[in-house]
Parts: sequence; C-alpha cells; structure tokens
Amino acid sequence: MIHQPDQYQEIRDAVRALCAQYPDEYFRKVDEARAYPEAFVDALTQAGWMAALIPQEYGGSGLTMAEASVIMEEINRSGGNSGACHGQMYVMNAIVRSGSEAQKQKYLPKIASGELRIQSMGVTEPTTGSDTTKLKTSAVRKDGRWVINGQKVWISRIQHSDLMILLARTTPADQVKKRSDGLSCFLIDLHQAIGNGLTVRPILNMVNHETNELFFDNLEIPEDALLGEEGKGFKTLLDGLNAERTLIAAECIGDGYWFIDRASKYAKERVVFNRPIGQNQGVQFPIADAFIELEAANLMRWKACEKIDAHQNAGAEANMAKYLAAKASWEAANVCLQTHGGFGFACEYDIERKFRETRLYQVAPISTNMIYSYVAEHILGLPRSF
Ligand SMILES: Cc1cc2nc3c(=O)[nH]c(=O)nc-3n(C[C@H](O)[C@H](O)[C@H](O)COP(=O)(O)OP(=O)(O)OC[C@H]3O[C@@H](n4cnc5c(N)ncnc54)[C@H](O)[C@@H]3O)c2cc1C
Repeated sequence: MIHQPDQYQEIRDAVRALCAQYPDEYFRKVDEARAYPEAFVDALTQAGWMAALIPQEYGGSGLTMAEASVIMEEINRSGGNSGACHGQMYVMNAIVRSGSEAQKQKYLPKIASGELRIQSMGVTEPTTGSDTTKLKTSAVRKDGRWVINGQKVWISRIQHSDLMILLARTTPADQVKKRSDGLSCFLIDLHQAIGNGLTVRPILNMVNHETNELFFDNLEIPEDALLGEEGKGFKTLLDGLNAERTLIAAECIGDGYWFIDRASKYAKERVVFNRPIGQNQGVQFPIADAFIELEAANLMRWKACEKIDAHQNAGAEANMAKYLAAKASWEAANVCLQTHGGFGFACEYDIERKFRETRLYQVAPISTNMIYSYVAEHILGLPRSF
C-alpha cells in the first residue's frame, strides 16, 4: 500500500483497524444485495467517527476538517464506500452553524451518539435540477405551522435517517430582490412526515446508493422546524457545502489510492509474454500518470481543509478540490480496470464496484460543469452564463 506517514497517522491507524473488520467481501455482498452497510455504519458511529465535526460541548469530538477528511479518505482507501454514511458527518453542519441554541441542545448530542441519524439533505428537484434557486417546493405559514408542497429527486439515505434538512421556497421568486433570497431550510422529522404528507419512492440506480424521489402533499411541520433565518436558507445550506465538497474530495483521494494500489500490485504479479505486465511502459506509465494527478489533487484537498479550519472562505478551494479529486479518482479507476484486463470486470475483484462508485462524484453533489461555472464567474470574474 502506498504509505506516506503524516500527522494524522493515529486517526489513520484507528480507522484502518475498524475498516479491516469489514473487508472487500463485506462490501461486495452489501453491493450484490443492494443492502445498506448497517453493521459498518453502526461500528463507525459507536467508535465516534461520525461525530467528528460536532463540537465537544454538544457531545461530538470537535475534530478539524483535515482530521474529519482523513476518516473519509481511509474508509474509501480501505475498499469501503463513505457514500452510505458521509451525510451523518456533514448534514448536521447546518445545525451547528445556523441552528438556535435550543435546536443545538435538542439534536446535536443525539446525533453525536448516533441515536438520531441526519443523513439527508433535500435540495434537487426534477424540473429545475442544477438551477437550485428556481426550486419550486414551497413552505407556507398556516396557523402556527408550515405547510409544504412540492417534489424532490435524488434525495439520499432517507430510509436510513431520522431527520432531513429540506430547502424550500418561503417567499415567491417574483417577490425577492436576489434569486437566492426567499428560500428557507427546515429540519424534518422523517418518522412523523412519512405517510402524513411525505411519500418516498426509491430510485434504483447504477451504484448501491439509497436515493429517492420525495413527494410533499400538504405536509405540516411545526413552526420551530425552521433552521436558520427565514428567507436565508440558501446561505444556511451553502455554508455547509464547502465541508461536503472537501470531505467528498478526500473520499475520492481514498478511492484513487485504492485503485493505484490495486493496479500496481496486479501489474507486478500478472505475467504475460514472459514478463510482468507492469514491466511494459504502456502499462506502467498510465498508472504513474494517475498517481501524479492524484497527488496533485490531494494538495488542493489539504488547502481546502486548511482554509475551512482557519474559518476562511473556502469556496474556491473546496470546489476545486472536489473537481480535481473526482477527476483523479476516475482516471485511476479507469487505469486500474484497464490494467486488470478482463479480470477488472469480475465482481470478486471489487474494481467494477469501486469504478461505479467513484464515477458518481463527477455528477453529485455538484456536477463538474457547475464547478467550472463557479470558478469562471466567481474567481475569474467572467460574465454570468445563467
Ligand atoms: C446517486 C445520487 C445521489 C444524490 N443525492 C442527492 C441528495 O442527497 N440531495 C440532493 O439534493 N441531491 C442529490 N443528488 C442530485 C445531484 O446533486 C444532481 O444530480 C446534480 O446536482 C445535477 O443535477 P441534475 O441531475 O438535475 O442535472 P441537470 O441540472 O439536469 O444537468 C444535466 C447536465 O447538464 C449540465 N448543465 C446543466 N446546465 C448547464 C449549464 N448552464 N452550463 C453547463 N452545463 C450545464 C450539468 O452539469 C449536468 O452535467 C444526487 C444525485 C445522484 C445521482
């Protein structure tokens, strides 16, 4: 295994030891059964890793973004998939940053202990997609409650969450000055909501990723379900998105190292034409190329962590880290598959599974084009394209 000791070695060793109890066969079986890695997520939660970013005063471990990102990296680097549980680490960020003291006291200790799972964030809608500020789901105040109507799509881990953060429009778009105004965040108790105005329809998809369509039909939620300031939900959410992107970048880095480890090992062992295939430059150069790209992407991941930990605006670094890492992990996946020839397609090698899993990150949680657009407009000052 490519091994570069760093100051996070203690965390790395501890997460690796836990992950070693859930070897390739475990994730292969979970994937085949399209099941949820319940035992693995429970073990991570019990060990406190999922509460890394919750402040100590609310029962979490108050780790830095850099440390939290190492946890995610190690899960993916061990052959697992953080996608099943990474929401628990970052969705609660909106409560930490924008919740009232009462909401923090009520929810954070239980999220930290694992008693409550908050793994879902409902933003994307079927008719508006990446054009988030045009979303149509509405929340209207009525008799001291909020009434929600609309539809969401691709909302992950609903079936394995107690709470969801929902973004809905509280002031019609034609009555606000800025298009990102008039949106608000809500904390939805899924046990109360499902069957009482919220219908969930699972979407079968390319990866074993639990994701769903949601239908809101006059769902009533309490007035104090509002999270953060009314009308400023976009900002509430945005504050947490840099953390999400940075953690996902770290997962991609973990995937990338996993692919390069596997490719290098196989290229040394597999003998064809009386020589290890890795002796051929046509085989070794693409692996070296993927490694170089991954190492470079990793630098941007650390830069994003550094800025977040210094409480600086990390919008550019978080987006660029996610872009570079997702691209590098995908290139490493492709090289790993190619190096394995036909065996790369055999499920028992786990490469096809990780190949599918890592591909997702060029689309979700934000697609590559939206990152180009962010950099072009917000960093380079080019005219808005939409
Ligand atoms: C497995 C999975 C899990 C997900 N989980 C969640 C979740 O938990 N919560 C949630 O809210 N969402 C979730 N998503 C949704 C995800 O964030 C969106 O799929 C993604 O943001 C892209 O939106 P879209 O699918 O509507 O694509 P569209 O917006 O329809 O875009 C389609 C393609 O066109 C490109 N495009 C669109 N407009 C432009 C433009 N102006 N310029 C250049 N290119 C453009 C996009 O980049 C994209 O490649 C998930 C998606 C998947 C697949």
